[in-house]
Amino acid sequence: MKLKVGVFKFTSCSGCQVELIRMNEQLPELLNLVEFKYWAMASSKLEDGPYDLALVEGAISTPECIEEVKAIREKSRVLVALGDCAVTGGVPSIRNWMSQREAETIVYPKPGYIRSTRVYGIDEYVKVDYYLKGCPPRLENILQVFKAVILGVKPRLRQHSVCVECKLYENECLLTTYKQPCMGPVTAAGCGAICPNVGRVCEGCYGPMSDPNVASMVERLREIGLSDDEIVRKFRKYAGMSKPYREVAKL
Ligand code: SF4
Ligand code: SF4
Ligand code: SF4
Repeated sequence: MKLKVGVFKFTSCSGCQVELIRMNEQLPELLNLVEFKYWAMASSKLEDGPYDLALVEGAISTPECIEEVKAIREKSRVLVALGDCAVTGGVPSIRNWMSQREAETIVYPKPGYIRSTRVYGIDEYVKVDYYLKGCPPRLENILQVFKAVILGVKPRLRQHSVCVECKLYENECLLTTYKQPCMGPVTAAGCGAICPNVGRVCEGCYGPMSDPNVASMVERLREIGLSDDEIVRKFRKYAGMSKPYREVAKL
């Protein structure tokens, strides 16, 4: 029997779903094994659960989102947070560092009828089985989760830092050699170090690696000349709400 899959969106730019759509090459094979029951971006056929696998994109930012994500959880055997917005609140969570009213006034011409909450990843409200980090997560990692759920095993998602991938490409280190503010040492791998590979610093878009040495990273950023404000912004950018970064992001 085919795996029943639902893809859902909350507060997000939809970039993670676009990455999912990029699997067009693998799609014919995948469609032998899975059936997309609900995926509003890809099909007008929207069927209710139960789902074997729910991929949930986006942060939770309104009272309605909270109820909806709970309802999805009840209908889903395996629930995956797809991308940083769903994992930690991601980019939308930068509004947590101002008042709700200030954020609403900046975004909406008539904010009077808006009801929003502080922005969180979905595990603030429901149990998450697997986290697909990244803004967006790389397609290979998404397919790894599909494979694992089809086989009934745990997916092998990388826990080490971007530096490990960067070193495998034998890049010169932008942080230690060129004194550039690369977040690679505390950032989760999985992207293939695509930024350092082209001479750009890692901005931390995969969020924290497992057990990052945040204190040491802060010291190193200070040593190369970043101000405290710049360091705070570095940690807020993608995952300021994550446990390891909260203290530096000053929540
Ligand atoms: S994680 Fe990034 S790419 Fe995915 S929806 Fe959020 S902002 Fe967009
Ligand atoms: S360039 Fe960045 S990611 Fe690569 S090794 Fe240096 S600190 Fe790590
Ligand atoms: S190198 Fe860093 S910023 Fe670039 S894609 Fe990878 S995790 Fe994101």
